[in-house]
Amino acid sequence: MINPPGKEAILYEKMPDDKVKCTACARYCEVKKDQIGLCGIRGNENGKLQLYVYGKVISGHVDPIEKKPLIHYFPGSKVYSIATTGCNWLCRYCQNSDISQRRKVEGIDMSPDDVVNTAIQYGAHGIAYTYNEPSIFIEYARDCGVIARKKGLFNVFVSNGYDTPESVSMMNEFLDGITVDFKGSAEPEFTRKFIGVPDPQPIFDTLLNIRDKTKIHLEITDLIVPKVGDNLDYAKKLSKFIYDEFGPEIPIHFLRFHPDYKMMDYPSTPIETLEKHYDIARDVGLKYVYLGNVPGHKLEHTYCSECKKIVVDRYGFNIVSWNLDENNCCLFCSNPIPITGKLQKGYKEDRFQFVS
Ligand code: SF4
Repeated sequence: MINPPGKEAILYEKMPDDKVKCTACARYCEVKKDQIGLCGIRGNENGKLQLYVYGKVISGHVDPIEKKPLIHYFPGSKVYSIATTGCNWLCRYCQNSDISQRRKVEGIDMSPDDVVNTAIQYGAHGIAYTYNEPSIFIEYARDCGVIARKKGLFNVFVSNGYDTPESVSMMNEFLDGITVDFKGSAEPEFTRKFIGVPDPQPIFDTLLNIRDKTKIHLEITDLIVPKVGDNLDYAKKLSKFIYDEFGPEIPIHFLRFHPDYKMMDYPSTPIETLEKHYDIARDVGLKYVYLGNVPGHKLEHTYCSECKKIVVDRYGFNIVSWNLDENNCCLFCSNPIPITGKLQKGYKEDRFQFVS
């Protein structure tokens, strides 16, 4: 290709014979000349790794931050959410497969300034890099994020956590929050069969790296897939890891699966299954455990860990009532609740999407 689209990547190493090794995600693809990595959007052009989707946004959408889910970080915020095509995972249930599994460079041209200005026009408080795995386009996200911070916006990732020390180090240049999204409680057989990932260990390594090397706000999610990704022993193992390494106050969300993409013949996760996962996490000692994708369920709320009263009442992604003072302490008993930032008000959905 004479004039490849995008921009030369930063996270890669040169190898003999014009090969390159990508270091953006834990697949560490070794890419020969004129070939692309598994994600479909990082390729070798004459011995240099090119990020083809730099400046190409396939989807832009204003969401409540609760949808990510990030619910202990500036609750009620609007986040301008963007994605590119491609992904480093091959999830058979992906709800965004139209974007993530597309192996083409498509979207509208948006420079980092355009992304930030659009977020500001929509009245967003921050930018979310989401819908596909953002570490595969991290150089673009970084350039957007640095400008966004200068203009008073925050940056958050919704990530599968299959990252590297190099990508975590780059996150530290601009990222404020991240939700690391486990699937099937990281049971290796599920990960291999339904995601196409040989070993979930890099996700755990990423979490420890984020803890040790950054100050990024962290929440954990776990998508519970009925029959094949709902093993309670693995849920216990994951909850114990989270408790041992991050303490009792880190939020964890168990999300309900809905049939999609190549798993249309599976049912939605039974509510009782999600409730069993909740019980396991609470028994291990985690204090802020939530169920997601179950609007109206009582375990969407934040309960004070001391007096047990509802301090943030939610319905789906909306905040219905707020019983915290200006320091995010419980109004009933003054117990501090580990929520970063004040309540932001005024979410209004705006949508645009570019699919060619
Ligand atoms: S980001 Fe893409 S090219 Fe790089 S290692 Fe991951 S899958 Fe391979």
